[in-house]
Amino acid sequence: EKNDKDVKEEMHKKEDCKPAVFIPVDRLPEIQEARLRLPILAEEQVIMEAVREKECVVLCGETGSGKTTQVPQFLYEAGYASSGGIIGVTEPRRVAAISMSHRVATEMNLPSGVVSYQIRYEGNVTENTKIKFMTDGVLLKEIQKDFLLQKYSVVIIDEAHERSVYTDILIGLLSRIVPLRNKKGLPMKLIIMSATLRVEDFTENKRLFRTPPPVIKVEARQFAVTVHFNKRTPVDNYTGEAFRKICKIHRMLPPGGILVFLTGQAEVHSVCRRLRKAFPYRPHREHTDSMETEEDLKSKRAKKKKNMSLPRINLDSYSALPVDEGDEDRQAGIDDNDNEGSDLELGDHPDSDHEEKADPSIPLYVLPLYSLLAPEQQAKVFSPPPTGARLCVVATNVAETSLTIPGIKYVVDCGRVKKRFYDRVTGVSSFKVTWISQASANQRAGRAGRTEPGHCYRLYSSAVFGDFSLFSEAEITRRPVDDLVLQMKDLNIEKVVNFPFPTPPSSEVLISAEQLLISLGALEEPPRRGRLGEMERARLSCPITPLGRAMAAFPVAPRYAKMLALGRQQGCMPYIITIVAAMTVREIFEDYDRPAGSEEENTKMAGKKARCVQMRRLWAGQGQSVQLGDLMVLLGAVGACEFAGCTHQFCEENGLRYKAMLEIRRLRGQLTNAVNAVCSDAGVYVDNKMAPPTASQVLCLRQIVLAGLGDHIARRVQAEELLDPKWRNGYKTPLLDDPVFIHPSSALHKTLPEFVVYQEIMETTKMYMRGVCAVQAEWIPKLLPQYCHFSAPEESPAPWFCPLSGRVKCHQQSTFYRVSWKLPAIEM
Ligand code: ADP
Ligand code: MG
Repeated sequence: EKNDKDVKEEMHKKEDCKPAVFIPVDRLPEIQEARLRLPILAEEQVIMEAVREKECVVLCGETGSGKTTQVPQFLYEAGYASSGGIIGVTEPRRVAAISMSHRVATEMNLPSGVVSYQIRYEGNVTENTKIKFMTDGVLLKEIQKDFLLQKYSVVIIDEAHERSVYTDILIGLLSRIVPLRNKKGLPMKLIIMSATLRVEDFTENKRLFRTPPPVIKVEARQFAVTVHFNKRTPVDNYTGEAFRKICKIHRMLPPGGILVFLTGQAEVHSVCRRLRKAFPYRPHREHTDSMETEEDLKSKRAKKKKNMSLPRINLDSYSALPVDEGDEDRQAGIDDNDNEGSDLELGDHPDSDHEEKADPSIPLYVLPLYSLLAPEQQAKVFSPPPTGARLCVVATNVAETSLTIPGIKYVVDCGRVKKRFYDRVTGVSSFKVTWISQASANQRAGRAGRTEPGHCYRLYSSAVFGDFSLFSEAEITRRPVDDLVLQMKDLNIEKVVNFPFPTPPSSEVLISAEQLLISLGALEEPPRRGRLGEMERARLSCPITPLGRAMAAFPVAPRYAKMLALGRQQGCMPYIITIVAAMTVREIFEDYDRPAGSEEENTKMAGKKARCVQMRRLWAGQGQSVQLGDLMVLLGAVGACEFAGCTHQFCEENGLRYKAMLEIRRLRGQLTNAVNAVCSDAGVYVDNKMAPPTASQVLCLRQIVLAGLGDHIARRVQAEELLDPKWRNGYKTPLLDDPVFIHPSSALHKTLPEFVVYQEIMETTKMYMRGVCAVQAEWIPKLLPQYCHFSAPEESPAPWFCPLSGRVKCHQQSTFYRVSWKLPAIEM
């Protein structure tokens, strides 16, 4: 048996295209064997030749064909990491960056100091690093430090089909950096990798590449996947439908892993729980003749009941019937009013004709998979299931392209995805479950055919599939771009409209981003002269201010960066750093509202929730600190957790997500370093443990927060305006016609202060403000004059003399953020 090294050396001799260097890699035999089965290995020659000849190469190949794990190895072996430069690989997801670096290190038999990763605040990069996996945001930050990316000899942009915003921007930037590098005699290569063939946005875009880069297609050895559509119009209850489908597959179909696509964490948990209940998996017990428990008996009775209304169908004889996809009435006589008609489609299964029926007593090994899951839990899906058990992974979209789970034969696809939607006019965010694109549906189906022919069960009809859009749209068209615009300005790209975006955002979105940055003081105010067209244009090319440069150095969105830039007062910096860190980390509190399973679990969950509510009240503090609202809760939670040593146990007991708390800790460290780097005299030292802020510090913190979130201001509706009951307890924001509310879980839910600022508005059952902090009206004209137009003081009430300050105060009419709001007494 030849090993890979010999094969390669021979090949190079024969074909006479020896690379400048050949760096041998010592792989374990079993790894080598698995590699040789990957379709991309057949294309190594073609790929490496194209890379040698061209500056940029586009590589398309099915998920699982080996792009991410193998291409960096090809480059390494061809010496791209041996003459000083390193190989950089960007991933849109942190999960992928970490897990792929581990995998490649294992395959190459190299330590993590050589094949490393770097995500926002964490990594294991060393001086010896040769291959570096990182999130796309990390590379963007590096471009700010060194526009030519001189560290790298090759940059691979992975998962380009996901069209994540940073990926798009990186491709735009690299399309300029690579030619520049080559012109300077510092050769550099760019490889764009995509799981779909839809790469015209990169290749046909003349602003991006004058000569279109070559596209190499990797023919994946994909086995046939039979797609089964639901016959009926899809029901809303797709989790129930998914559950039933999995049960059927497990009971009736031959061995092979099941992968289920749902939309969110709560759904994943609920289906996992139901599956575990239906097919209890007891690792330490015999499965064959366990005692019948109360639950088993109950479910048996339930089954019996069901069987009475549903005639028993002999699967074998049923599948012997001729199958006609279009015959909608075929099942009508069997289960008339049953919404689960599609269940019987399993009878269509070709395998069931000739293969043995599966043994229903085989245990089902159920694993959840979603991005917020702890890494060690995530890693479980890669190891084989316990002997004799069938693997069932219940996943969100993460399993669509980034991670390839071995041994999947059946895919159940709910056809939906949860996406964040952002209203570009009002700034309201919401998570909505929407239909996926046809490209996504096919990706999902493809997961079933990796190791042998498979089956994909789509919980929707072929007609609905026909209505899906062909491809998912680029993320850049769905989100605000203020952070990107600031980063670009910092790279001295003044005319952001001219940037070679693979898919340009609308100029409307760009304008509102510049507007926000101007009002935060990050960009210079454009001259107010000129005609409308000229002004628009001027507004789109405002240069960055020194404050903007400082803000761009912080790895957070501009609003938060502004808070950091203002944090050096009264020793507030450590608190601001903590608040910003906590606001930018997703979901720091455990969600106890998700549907629980048994009575017992419900009670347990309710107990935990009560404790969590109580803790939040405690963290909100008393007196002045309550006014800092939800941000005080964040500060209190982090403070309390750190005092307890940030242990898993503390988080578990107090409703905090351990992973989030660790993330906050790291981010605090990173932001502290950034603050110290930007303001060399700041000398901020963040102790993990910190005393609660004093009353005057809280006052200061609220003002800093107001300065950062100034455009996110809301005012409680006044009694005289309360004509319509829908405005009860409602708040008015400058841009929305409808009221927004303080969520019942907020620290300020009972207080309802007159003026508040909020982190964001999420639309769920109502429009709720998240991260609410009370502010005082008189601060507004002082801290946000850019939003105010003042009119003459009103006649009445007349100015009066304030005995405390000894100064004259008067009411003032002000048009604040285009809305006329009466602001109370200010000093004159
Ligand atoms: P692509 O990037 O083209 O989607 P990958 O390089 O990610 O493909 O995967 C190639 C193969 O390596 C797949 O068959 C996958 O199952 C396997 N693989 C990836 N990561 C792991 C891992 N952590 N453990 C075991 N196998 C893995
Ligand atoms: Mg990949």
